[in-house]
Amino acid sequence: MIGSSVVLRTRSWIVLCLGMLTAGSPAALAADCPGHPDALGTSRTLVVDPREHPLIGTMQYRETLPLKDHEVVLTFDDGPIPKYSNQVLKILADECIKATFFIVGNQAKANPEGVRKLVAAGHTVGTHSMDHPLTFDRMPIEKAEAEINGGIEWTAAAMTDPSQLAPFFRIPGLMRAEGLENHLISRGLQVWSADFPADDWRHVSSDRVYQLAIQRLEAKGKGILLLHDIQARTVAALPKIIRDLKARGYRIVHVVPATAERPATPTTQVEWLMHPPTETTPIARWPRVPHFVFTQTRTLPAPALADLNVQGEHQSLLPRRSKGQIDLASTLPVPGRDLFAIPEGSVEVLMSTTSSRRAATRLAMAAERPHPAKDKAAQGRGAKGKTAKLHGRRTAQAAPAAADHAAQPVDIVPKSTAAKSAAANGAASKGVPPRPTRVASLKKRA
Ligand SMILES: [Zn+2]
Repeated sequence: MIGSSVVLRTRSWIVLCLGMLTAGSPAALAADCPGHPDALGTSRTLVVDPREHPLIGTMQYRETLPLKDHEVVLTFDDGPIPKYSNQVLKILADECIKATFFIVGNQAKANPEGVRKLVAAGHTVGTHSMDHPLTFDRMPIEKAEAEINGGIEWTAAAMTDPSQLAPFFRIPGLMRAEGLENHLISRGLQVWSADFPADDWRHVSSDRVYQLAIQRLEAKGKGILLLHDIQARTVAALPKIIRDLKARGYRIVHVVPATAERPATPTTQVEWLMHPPTETTPIARWPRVPHFVFTQTRTLPAPALADLNVQGEHQSLLPRRSKGQIDLASTLPVPGRDLFAIPEGSVEVLMSTTSSRRAATRLAMAAERPHPAKDKAAQGRGAKGKTAKLHGRRTAQAAPAAADHAAQPVDIVPKSTAAKSAAANGAASKGVPPRPTRVASLKKRA
């Protein structure tokens, strides 16, 4: 008993405090809604520039209206149909709520008075095509354009002042398509999807409409609610939805388009996101990694012997590869493109080095041949016409001897092994034990 009285007292304090905290806004709103002191009212007007944010509504787009937590925008499609639209108008008027209506051209044509009533009540009026086809996503753009134009023309024609028509468009059935959106954007029309529907076009009860509206709003905490002012279940559900919005502390925002005299409400980019990232909210994505594409092929074949620019008679000079090595080298990773970039000026050096090495190789091979006539022929093939005297000899102590001659050892010719080929890299002059080797040296003539 003691415990329950404490709880009751605590609750009454909370209710009192909440009442004091919220007393300011309902009092102000009640003053704006004569005869309806308990009205939900409209808390503020949001002025938007369609060109800055052309696609809104998180049901389909990244951005939505820059609403604060617990702010709601009511939208009604497909009207006006007098029987239901007039009842919706009355309910909204009794709550001093301003909403946005998306008019079907044929309805405006049949009931222009209904459009004028919406404008007179201060609601925002956009359009929703001429005939409400549910094929906008696959319709030729010329046909879509005719549908869009018909809706705009007949709605504007119904108005006393056509400039009251907002450049807001909702695609029938939300059947979006990129080409269609681009067309609408190019005309300065803002494409309104929604943040949540209440399924009031389905065969569900009005109670279900009310439940879905509140459940889906509570899940997001704010947003654009999509309703239809041509449905009996919507008319039945609307008072209950509005009462519950008020009880849960939601506020209604009225959206109007920016004009020359009425600049857009200042906003930041992140306010147009349903849940702007904050330092305390982890982002569910890794940073984007750049996608590099250098080639269509993932691996390249290992070069063949012929690709190495080696003459057939020199194949025996190459170190032998074991089977394991061959398998490892059967494919190679694709190198980056910049690996092949050779700085300007270095090409000449590379070419001259290669050609002088080739010339030296030829001379060395010629030296090994016993026929003197071939020696002469080899001399005649000197690189770039330069003459060179060949000193070929067979000796057991070749490397030191060649060094004594102050001539460069140009090609050390091992018989077959890899160990001998290492001598070509200068090992011979670094104290490698002498062994029988064929050496050719070049001595330039003065
Ligand atoms: Zn519709």
